[in-house]
Amino acid sequence: MTGTPLTLRDYVHGYRIYAQCGSCRHDVRLSLMHAAQIAGWDATLDEVRRRLKCKVCGNRGSIAIQIVHDGRPAR
Ligand SMILES: [Zn+2]
Repeated sequence: MTGTPLTLRDYVHGYRIYAQCGSCRHDVRLSLMHAAQIAGWDATLDEVRRRLKCKVCGNRGSIAIQIVHDGRPAR
């Protein structure tokens, strides 16, 4: 534990973001590139989450995000 929150930059290789609206359950898959366009490469996942807005119901702030490895082996 370093105490430094991980940023998008730390996830670049082989990760994807899944986001689900806490209100209407609409879910989207977000690339790291897209997340970085929204919040910047130095943003933490929490910062990305706070900037996301549901396209379906307009909800903001209760969107859950999950980061997953896309299965390709890391080199
Ligand atoms: Zn929604």
